[in-house]
Amino acid sequence: MEKGLVIRSTGSWYQVKTDSGQLVDCKIKGSFRLKGFKSTNPIAVGDRVHITLNTEGTAFITEIEDRKNYIVRRASNLSKQLHIIAANVDQCMLIATVNHPETSTIFIDRFLASAEAYGVPVALIFNKTDIYSDDEKRLLEGLTNLYTHIGYPCFCISALNETGIGEIKKMLAGKITLLSGNSGVGKSTLINAILPGQNLKTGEISAVHNKGTHTTTFSEMYPLDEGGYIIDTPGIKGFGTFDMKDEEVGHYFKEIFEFSANCKYGNCTHRNEPGCAVREAVEKHYISESRYLSYLNILEDREEGKYRAAY
Ligand code: GDP
Ligand code: ZN
Repeated sequence: MEKGLVIRSTGSWYQVKTDSGQLVDCKIKGSFRLKGFKSTNPIAVGDRVHITLNTEGTAFITEIEDRKNYIVRRASNLSKQLHIIAANVDQCMLIATVNHPETSTIFIDRFLASAEAYGVPVALIFNKTDIYSDDEKRLLEGLTNLYTHIGYPCFCISALNETGIGEIKKMLAGKITLLSGNSGVGKSTLINAILPGQNLKTGEISAVHNKGTHTTTFSEMYPLDEGGYIIDTPGIKGFGTFDMKDEEVGHYFKEIFEFSANCKYGNCTHRNEPGCAVREAVEKHYISESRYLSYLNILEDREEGKYRAAY
């Protein structure tokens, strides 16, 4: 028996890097069953597993070690089944752009809220700083001030010109990091800047990935020279927040949660309730209007029973 880390998952087989440094392609043993919730994939990248090698050079995964965390999304928009994107994730990096294309604050805030729900820290990377107009630069400054203040580290980079990449490499060292972002924001370009050997095709790769947005089961972790891995999961633009009551949504907006301690009612949803300290904080500009609107937007979707993974 050997232990190792799942670094590639195709849905039918898994590539495991053993603790002794070997790369082994594994299948799941027929009798193998995962305890716990039902998902479309029993094993994901980031899982620590036990494998048994047999004489023909093939191998079976016989056990999954307990997960520190795992990130799931629904298998499809209306499906109740869950798909595990990755396990044992140390942090997420969300790549955003002020323009070309514009990443909406609603998209950013939904991503942040779901990461909070999973207890995974997020850093925001604003890319394409080389092409912004003066107005866009001011907008960028406003956004980085806002999110830094709330407690999310922000980085402004140009993946194309390779400026600001050093700081990002420092954050990545020794950790398992999930990279996300709408298509076109420069995720492949950034990965190529971080891992020159990888040679991901920019532009093209996103087009291929996006076709299977909600059905793809392929995912991969890339090892970093500095130790650690980055996970690039095709088609993942965000992940859902599940099984939570309306009054809990505010727990995942750090600053809303802070002010909610002074709301008159303990189960305040911060909409129309009297004595709501959150609404008052929005009016006084202690809480940003864009954050509050994103919060309302999540509540609205929940009321309509809708689930939107991304915009
Ligand atoms: P992905 O869909 O997120 O993987 O995005 P790509 O890496 O394929 O990039 C989409 C387009 O944006 C390509 O034409 C890239 O050359 C361009 N791009 C990526 N990063 C930058 C950047 O920092 N500055 C500029 N000006 N263009 C960039
Ligand atoms: Zn309230």
